[in-house]
Amino acid sequence: GIAAKDSKVDVLVIGAGPAGLMSAFALARAGVNVRVVDKRPKKVAAGQADGIQPRTTESYGLSDRLLKEGTQLHVAAFYNPSRNGGIELTDRIPDVNATDTNFPFEVTLHQGAIEAIFLDDMRDMGVEVSRPVVPASIEVTETLVDDFDAYPVRVALERKHFESENEEYTEIVHAKYVLGADGAHSWVRKSMGIAMEGEQTDYVWGVVDLVPDTDLPDVRNKCAIHSNNGSCMIIPREDDKIRLYIQLEGKDVVDASGRVDKSKAGPEMILNVARKTLYPFTIKTPESYDWWTIYIIGQRVAERYTVHNRIFIAGDACHTHSPKAGQGMNASMQDSYNLAWKLVHVLKGTAHRSLLQTASKLNFHLGELYEFERRQYAQDLIDFDKKFAKLFSGKPYSELNLDGVSHAEFLKAFQTFGGFTSGLGVQYADSIIINSKHQHLAQHIRIGRRLPPRPLLRAADCRPIDLHDLLVSDTRFKLLVFTGDTHDPSQMGRVQRFAQELRAPGSFFAKFSSLEAMHTVFDIISISSEKKETIMYNALPRNLWSHWSKVLVDDIDMRGITGSGKVYSSLGIDSAGAVIVLRPDGYVAAIAPLDDVPHLSSYFATFLRAC
Ligand code: FAD
Repeated sequence: GIAAKDSKVDVLVIGAGPAGLMSAFALARAGVNVRVVDKRPKKVAAGQADGIQPRTTESYGLSDRLLKEGTQLHVAAFYNPSRNGGIELTDRIPDVNATDTNFPFEVTLHQGAIEAIFLDDMRDMGVEVSRPVVPASIEVTETLVDDFDAYPVRVALERKHFESENEEYTEIVHAKYVLGADGAHSWVRKSMGIAMEGEQTDYVWGVVDLVPDTDLPDVRNKCAIHSNNGSCMIIPREDDKIRLYIQLEGKDVVDASGRVDKSKAGPEMILNVARKTLYPFTIKTPESYDWWTIYIIGQRVAERYTVHNRIFIAGDACHTHSPKAGQGMNASMQDSYNLAWKLVHVLKGTAHRSLLQTASKLNFHLGELYEFERRQYAQDLIDFDKKFAKLFSGKPYSELNLDGVSHAEFLKAFQTFGGFTSGLGVQYADSIIINSKHQHLAQHIRIGRRLPPRPLLRAADCRPIDLHDLLVSDTRFKLLVFTGDTHDPSQMGRVQRFAQELRAPGSFFAKFSSLEAMHTVFDIISISSEKKETIMYNALPRNLWSHWSKVLVDDIDMRGITGSGKVYSSLGIDSAGAVIVLRPDGYVAAIAPLDDVPHLSSYFATFLRAC
């Protein structure tokens, strides 16, 4: 029989891939009532995405497990046609050419293991994925979309098989918000009538994961191989595995309608093409294959990311592109974290719904802020992907093929796009939450980009600490108060006036965070340029640090090994100090001089709500 029941939830997440799990995890950790459903009976066992860029490794507290379980890629090796036929090593360069990060390398780990990181943490918080469950219908009551307390989205969920009873089961879920993180063929996207813009390419690739037996010396490095037989990429992986991406001839694997026909191929066929490409190096047939697939590269972006700011889509549901630059899973998780912290503030009542929408004040006509930031990013990603895929899939340069891709050309692209592929160069444009007014107060960082890591000491115990370790993805805004040299009485006077202004009733700090709730919206960290020998952490006004461990000093440690004493100069902050506001996702949102609390108050007033 059919059982039906009704339930309410703040956020219903449809799809438990990297995008859905990242958001569910972030929402659950912030105390939001969240439900996740997926049509798969089990999480991904092998294959699919595996590349983690430095920006992902340094965020969301993922690094511990990623570094423990994943493989690190430090070198990119390039192979090109040799004069004797076959291929030869041309160059080895750093795989990541960004330096201002604590993780200047790519990490690889299969998608299921990444999903497990979120699933384990969610289980500890009592949140499990309901599976196999699919949505059957979705409706929004338009008259309720602006009502703070309403549950305007109604979704019918179906569970095909009960584990115990063999029964069909329908449930009606009333949600405040729904996130469609249901992959490239997104049901949510289609149900909302959101079109994908862009096109399919002619490039067909095969992927195979295996433990190799080969004489290729760079098999534990990332390899980009251009041969006269087509291109190949090798990605070293966990547990001695590697992944081979092999360019295939479309005619061999595509059916009359232009779709990939998986029955025309198999891992052995892909490996046979690889053998020709890798010649004179050899690779033996393994006893078994870990995973394989074939795909045609489509380069598309969804025309909208939301409907009424109540239903959103994220991840592959919004954008598809080639996987070789290792962007898909990263972009997907960053989409959904970008949305999650905004949803948390709106749901908790600490932000207006305008946080999900841009204010007309700044003359934005693009719908929503999440969409505004992440759709631009997706478009940049596709533009990058078009150039990169063309160079990668192109025939190599030779005396017979003067139009071919030369090594110099490919290398240049690889390095130019480095900021992009590492995720460290992402820059959000000005909006109500990115205000570039006082950029000159910190010349060496960019408002709209993530703040780079910096070695500092804790003032109270001189323990070396990286600034990033304090920038936890906990949905709070971080106020970094660069106090300047607090040993100087006149500078200490400025700091005290700043602290006093923060306490004044009209200031954003007083208005948007009641005393008890002070640390739910903001976390405050002070960074002095005084010497460790003289600083008294508790001499700083008490409202400028949320805990003793959050008073830092820009100095070298007691043994002269770590710390630097150069953080102020490397960020371009002078002795007068400055306040840097970081968004919950670590992007620099605004900067102010210590004597301009009104700037900060008007910045926050555009989207926070008084409590
Ligand atoms: P997905 O990981 O696709 O997750 C979507 C989730 O939604 C899935 O768990 C799915 O079961 C669920 N779902 C879908 N429809 C419904 C529905 N109607 N109801 C309920 N649940 C639903 N990237 C690379 O970088 N390298 C690769 O080699 C690579 N290979 C891939 C191979 C395959 C076969 C696929 C599908 C993807 C591959 N990708 C690869 C892409 C990469 O997996 C994605 O970029 C990344 O996983 C995006 O995360 P996501 O959460 O947005 O979507």
